[in-house]
Amino acid sequence: RSAAGPTTVDGPVTTTDGHRVAVVANIAEAKDAERAAAVGAEGVGLLRTELTFLSAATEPSPPDQRAGYAATMAPLHGRPVTARTLDAGADKPVPFLAMAPEPNPALGVRGQRVFDRGAADHDGVLDRQLAALVGGAVDAGVRLKVMAPMIATAAEARRFVARARAAGAGEVGVMIEVPAAVLGARELLAEVDFVSVGTNDLTQYLFAADRQSGALAGLNDPWQPALLRLLEQLCREAAVSGTPVGVCGEAAADPDLAVVLVGLGVTSLSASPAALPAVAARIAASDLDACRRAASAALAAPDAATARASAGAAASPGL
Ligand code: PEP
Ligand code: MG
Repeated sequence: RSAAGPTTVDGPVTTTDGHRVAVVANIAEAKDAERAAAVGAEGVGLLRTELTFLSAATEPSPPDQRAGYAATMAPLHGRPVTARTLDAGADKPVPFLAMAPEPNPALGVRGQRVFDRGAADHDGVLDRQLAALVGGAVDAGVRLKVMAPMIATAAEARRFVARARAAGAGEVGVMIEVPAAVLGARELLAEVDFVSVGTNDLTQYLFAADRQSGALAGLNDPWQPALLRLLEQLCREAAVSGTPVGVCGEAAADPDLAVVLVGLGVTSLSASPAALPAVAARIAASDLDACRRAASAALAAPDAATARASAGAAASPGL
């Protein structure tokens, strides 16, 4: 390992005692996918699909969508790719979706809610996207998983899963970005094949603190013990149901926090390609017991700074 740190993921990644953790990439377009492949990412944990739509004045045609997804996924040939369906609204406006102005967009009809309120014209957008993702994955030779953003209840998850399966998706999950989804995890997990935690939004909604507000950055800190306790609750329920739990928010990009997440029971970590080699190296140098000690220390901390410091000390007691 050079002074500059590791430059690739030497997967499959396991802890020193053989506990498997998937180290996968967050991508939005083909050049991110090429970077992900170049660093040796085991696959993609979050394909943000909004980019295809952000600049489009009208909905791209189904063949154009399919070709676009195929081109984005092609560099990951042979690997698993988790694609998130359109997450419109709040910080991600989609011009052609014509959404009514709302006083509180982050709390409004956004994410999967756009397609889950009986608005027939918008419904077709989701079903066409799902079909294009399924077709694009076949063309690219990747194993597709799909997940919906901004799910709050088991009923929302059930409706999404039914529509994704109808479009031919094999593995279907949801993002955990709303605290209610964690408190309702027992019912929600029964509906899905996997979940993936979006810590950026989950933190925003847990602390009622706009993720785009610099003044509130201290609250939007993934080391906040309240967030970690929420994740612990989710992982405990997921262990009972045997559901894989990924993290694809910024939290997964911090190697020290990645150790804590693994200790909590998170089974896959997804971050920008540049962050992956350091995350993978840290996991590969830790044993599961050290991860669990780090998690316990962080959970017991009174604040984010103490959580960070005590997790580090607990993971490497000899230093
Ligand atoms: C998240 O909310 O943590 C997430 C991964 O999704 P996005 O940042 O795209 O909202
Ligand atoms: Mg999000």
